[in-house]
Order: sequence, then structure tokens, then C-alpha cells
Amino acid sequence: MSRRERRWAVVPAAGRGDRFGGRLPKQYTPLRGQPILSWTLDALLGEPSIDGVMVAVAEGDRRFARLPQARDPRVRCCRGGARRELSVANALDALSDAARDEDWVLVHDAARPCLRRDDVRKLMAAVAGDAVGGLLALPVSDTLKAIGRDGRSQRTVAREGLWRALTPQVFRYGVLRRALVLSIDREREVTDEASAIEALGLRPMLVPGRADNIKVTLPADLALAAAIMATGGRQGANRSRLRRPRI
Ligand code: C5P
Repeated sequence: MSRRERRWAVVPAAGRGDRFGGRLPKQYTPLRGQPILSWTLDALLGEPSIDGVMVAVAEGDRRFARLPQARDPRVRCCRGGARRELSVANALDALSDAARDEDWVLVHDAARPCLRRDDVRKLMAAVAGDAVGGLLALPVSDTLKAIGRDGRSQRTVAREGLWRALTPQVFRYGVLRRALVLSIDREREVTDEASAIEALGLRPMLVPGRADNIKVTLPADLALAAAIMATGGRQGANRSRLRRPRI
């Protein structure tokens, strides 16, 4: 009997957050009572159809093991890389004993703690049966400027047809692994998984996501994330259902 397609989540959490600054790596910065990464993992673990979560952490990271979510049987960790795409590629390698080519992999930034389960479900429903996969994204609503070396606007860039890529981004395990290996080998700049998939000549589906799924990048984003959490009714502490380990 054929096994059902499984769903894995990969969380790149090996960055230092240079733009954020601060004493702790950004993903461990407290947000409404628990580290940013805990919120992010709770959001993914709250979706029961996710079979396992692989978290890529920086070499020498001792904080991850102390998170309550690290004890969830669905969670494992591996060593990240020097760039985001290397962290994701390492996590895919670490899943190779459990994942099959046709399984789905949702890649979600550690720095996006406000993810809501309905967004995960919307994305999965949209790509179900699709050959390629897709990502949460939003049409650009601001007017865009190209900046010159002098710090002044050189021109206005037409925003029509431009979308901002968010995460999660979901692709088949086999295709995503191939796409990332190829982009890394060719030293292409890959700021998200979709760009590696596009380089294969494939066209990821853009699924409208929630604007409050923000990436915490600058210190001011922390207060915004806290406000989003408060209005979204999310509470701290690991409320994910513990399930039998699958990885
Ligand atoms: O720096 P930025 O916020 O754009 O990074 C996006 C995500 O990629 C973060 O969750 C960060 O921890 C992760 N990352 C990583 N390995 C790196 C660099 C970034 O896992 N070498």
C-alpha cells in the first residue's frame, strides 16, 4: 500500500540577525514571555498535519535545546550553514532518512513568529495536487523607489505585478533539494526557496497571505509582533499537541 504524502517543516534558525542587533541572536529574543523561535515552532506544531519539524541552528547553539518545543517528539535539529539557503539545504539533508521525494516541505523563517494556522492551511490547500508548490505572498502596496548612491530617489519602479514573498514556502522534498543544490553549486543568490525553484524553470504558485505574518528584522518590529500576538489571541507556552515521533 502506498504511504500518504507527508508534510515536513524546515525552520532556518541559524542567523545572527545583524540588522536587529542586540545581545542575543534575534530568534532567541523574548517576545511576550517566550523566545521568538518558540512562537514560530508553536505555530507549526499547532498544525497536526505536520509530521515533523527540522530546525537548523548555528554551530555551538546551546539555547535551542533549552526551549520546551525542543522536547516535542516531532522536533529535531541540525546544524545550519553560513547562509540561509545552506541552512535549509542542511535541514533537507538531515531529513533524508525520513522524507521521500513526493513529500511536502514547508520552509518557514524562525523570524516570523506571528504565523497563523489558517495561513498554513490556506497554503497547503492551494498547492494540494499541484506539481510545483508555492508560497505565501502579498501584492506590493507602497510606491517603490530605486535609491542612488547619494541616498536620493533615482526613479519610481512600477509596482504593478510585484508581490512580496513571505514564508512558509512549500515544495516537494525532491524538487526543493535538487533546486537548492543546483543554486548553491552555481553560486546563485537565493534569498528564498522559490527563487531556487524558479531557476529550474518552474513557476511557484503565489498564495495571498496575511499581512501580519511579519518578519522580525529591526528592533521596532518586536513591538509590532507583540501587538499582533495580543490581538491574534495567541498565548505563550507550548500548547502544541504532543504526538508520536515520526522522525
Ligand atoms: O536574516 P534574516 O532574518 O533575513 O534571515 C531569515 C531566516 O533565515 C532567519 O530565520 C534566520 O535565522 C535564518 N538564517 C539561517 N542561516 C543563516 C542566515 C539566516 O538559518 N546563515
